[in-house]
Amino acid sequence: MNQPLYDAHNHLQDEWLAPHLDQIAEQLAGLGLRGAVVNGTCEEDWARVSELSRHFSWIVPSFGLHPWDVGNRSPDWLRNLVATLSGHPNSGVGEIGLDRWILDRARPDDQRLSGLRRAPLAEQIEVFTAQLALAAEGNRPTTIHCLDAWGALWELIRTAKLPPRGFLLHAYSGPAEMVHGFAEHGAYFSFNGAFLDERQARHRDTFKTVPPERLLVETDAPAMPLPNPWRTYKLPPSPTGQPVNHPANIEVTYTRLASVLGLPLDDFTIQIETNFLRLFAR
Ligand SMILES: [Zn+2]
Repeated sequence: MNQPLYDAHNHLQDEWLAPHLDQIAEQLAGLGLRGAVVNGTCEEDWARVSELSRHFSWIVPSFGLHPWDVGNRSPDWLRNLVATLSGHPNSGVGEIGLDRWILDRARPDDQRLSGLRRAPLAEQIEVFTAQLALAAEGNRPTTIHCLDAWGALWELIRTAKLPPRGFLLHAYSGPAEMVHGFAEHGAYFSFNGAFLDERQARHRDTFKTVPPERLLVETDAPAMPLPNPWRTYKLPPSPTGQPVNHPANIEVTYTRLASVLGLPLDDFTIQIETNFLRLFAR
């Protein structure tokens, strides 16, 4: 299609993608990808995000401590984050957030959580709040992950100092009724290809209520694989046998979301470009 595409949220630094990175970069260039926000999630991967952003000019690097990684953070995490951000004046803050799913609903043997200490919500809130304050202070584009903790997130968003440019609620899975309130506080909402699953009709409907100037599109690759019929680009499974999402599936995510919203693809693509640049360009 070779239209200007933007992936509002992925993890190109992930070790699952590393063996295929040259091929992935070529495929993304072939699609016309103009920008991608690459999110660090723990202290160990910030250097890799930084390195990739020096290599690929289309990367917007973002640094943060993901709620899944809060429990294993080092005593120096905040100092390390401040230093990393000051070395990248144009970077974002993220992926940060709140996750009650890992506490209440995740299976004890979930491979993705193995070796992680699952931080209780109060501890997650403390770490999230410190990172949000840094983002607000530097007016940095901020990427928020939230699962099953919408009430707690709303309380923080309603009362905290926020980056004036706004923030992204990535793969928004909250209630449609909360879209308006979050948007009033500066939220953008990114649609993930995993929401194309037949059983995810609620999330597709929610995106019909998002103001057009606050819509974004994302893959979260290598996480959140698309349902099989829409998986245009494929990668071999991870060493632990998990499906690996290919970042080039951003293309089909654009075309499918435009069709869900009943919008001509060209107009939709231009709208997403405008939104992406408003939130993430420095
Ligand atoms: Zn993510």
